[in-house]
Amino acid sequence: MSADVPEVSLVEVSKRFGEITAIEDISLEIRQGEFLTLLGPSGSGKTTLLRLIGGFEHPTTGRVLIRGEDVTGVPPNRRNTSTVFQDLALFPHMSVGRNVEYGLMLRGVPDAPRREQAERLLHLVGLEGFYRRNVSRLSGGQRQRVALARSLVLEPAVLLLDEPLTGLDEKFREQMQVELKNLHARLGTTFVAVTHNQEEALSMSDRVAVLRDGRLEQIGPPGELYEAPRTEFVADFIGSANLLRGDLAEPGMTFRSHGLVLRARVASGVGVGPAVLMVRPERIVIGPEAARQTNRYEARVDTVIYKGAVVEVYLVLDTGQRLRAHQRTGGAQQIPSAGSRVTVGWDAGDSIVLPSVPARHVADEREEVKSDSRSRAPR
Ligand code: ATP
Repeated sequence: MSADVPEVSLVEVSKRFGEITAIEDISLEIRQGEFLTLLGPSGSGKTTLLRLIGGFEHPTTGRVLIRGEDVTGVPPNRRNTSTVFQDLALFPHMSVGRNVEYGLMLRGVPDAPRREQAERLLHLVGLEGFYRRNVSRLSGGQRQRVALARSLVLEPAVLLLDEPLTGLDEKFREQMQVELKNLHARLGTTFVAVTHNQEEALSMSDRVAVLRDGRLEQIGPPGELYEAPRTEFVADFIGSANLLRGDLAEPGMTFRSHGLVLRARVASGVGVGPAVLMVRPERIVIGPEAARQTNRYEARVDTVIYKGAVVEVYLVLDTGQRLRAHQRTGGAQQIPSAGSRVTVGWDAGDSIVLPSVPARHVADEREEVKSDSRSRAPR
């Protein structure tokens, strides 16, 4: 099998459930050995897309290919894919070993090699010695690993993971993110995961596909999505973003926003006229250092919130725009106090001008500072 053949190809795939269009005209290729995450808010179509790859749903129009073979109407058990479901779907009355071996048993693999395989997979997911344990006696994280072992024992070309870390507490989630990434690197199997958690998507994946209203908004490596979002939606969904509305103007492609004149990178496809400028909170410099930045303004500090690793500084520019900045604690910079006057600035390369969106997508024109997308994510 040539490595040039994509592991999974979706060709102009749409999926409708009656009146509802869950997926609309998505074409995308997943590379062999890649860890791709489908990211988007609730109802954006992530799970449907995963189920289309796994064969649990079939497209209304379009085609699904696995390693170049058209599997559009093929049921899940005849595809080279295996799914770890959100609820894990373990058999509660069976031992860990029996759960892991189950797929092999259905395939008629004899006892001894079956057990050998199960033990090998349990070792791989860090559950050595758990073969005889009852699954009902395991912690959430251990059950997660059993589900992974059970799917991987079938040696699928593609492992599909539906919200793999939902239900785990935050600390353990982070640990499992690293473990999943390491497991992926060791196995070389193609992983496709679904999550609504942007931090999880960024930390685990080779590439992230951002979905919105059933459409593919942008796909790329985490750094690219963070540094060079193509739309306001992606800028706001991945990390935190300050968004300033205004106009891109000739000459010199400067951005003007209610009395401010700014220099920034310009995303491809953005022309002169209404646009949105995005700058990340951690790229805003406050104090004497700001004088050296391309864009610099006078502001008043409205609120300061201590968050441990960073201090969140809410600023009101003299022109009225509101911005949120993050300053690292413990550094040389002095943390400004609420009510003080400061100079703020950022480098042109740290901000990007994005296309303006149709009015229906602008949640609140008055609110220039968007809240952290993590706090708005569902569940
Ligand atoms: P969540 O994060 O909430 O799971 P999601 O991004 O995975 O959301 P999907 O579950 O794929 O979204 O749903 C996309 C759209 O399709 C939603 O509007 C949903 O209500 C609809 N939908 C999904 N499955 C079905 C179904 N079997 N019948 C009818 N509508 C469905």
